[in-house]
Amino acid sequence: MTEIEQVTVSMDGFEVNSYVVHAPEGDVIVDAGAEPEKILGAVRAPVVAVLITHAHADHVGALDAVLRETNAPLYVHPDAAEGTGVGVYEPLDEGQVLDLAGETFRVLHTPGHAVGSVTFVVGRDQIVGDLILPGSVGRTDIDGASWEDLEISLRKVMPLWEDGTRLYAGHGPVLLASEQLENNPYLPPVLP
Ligand SMILES: [Zn+2]
Repeated sequence: MTEIEQVTVSMDGFEVNSYVVHAPEGDVIVDAGAEPEKILGAVRAPVVAVLITHAHADHVGALDAVLRETNAPLYVHPDAAEGTGVGVYEPLDEGQVLDLAGETFRVLHTPGHAVGSVTFVVGRDQIVGDLILPGSVGRTDIDGASWEDLEISLRKVMPLWEDGTRLYAGHGPVLLASEQLENNPYLPPVLP
């Protein structure tokens, strides 16, 4: 049974989440913003892949160290690849299904907060990066961001929400999708 472990690290006092997905046949790291030793400390099995939701500095600051330590391949959307500073990577694509360590990671291209942002669907749960934040969404007043794209991306992930779906966001606690539907004023209305 796969378990998604939240690892909150601090980048100069600013908290950002990494995730270590404990899959049946190994671990997968998602995002590596800071404190690589803390991220690696949560690892329990060989790391088969490192995935990046988007390439903002607070999500990739510890990427070099994590890749060096794990020797795992990096998966990132091509639009975000340059921002990682890593030249060799596996390109992620909309709708792609990754089979990693005995678990399935479905890739949704979800730009808006950042170019090349992706959401990983694992079972009924979603690792959303900064697409959705507690009671809010990722900033769209920054370079490369677009509210129009963000809304399209929200409308892509929301129809997949089920009872009990958890959202693993880039900042803040693990979220219940049903609670965000009730309390997050930034989410577009669900279309009939
Ligand atoms: Zn960001």
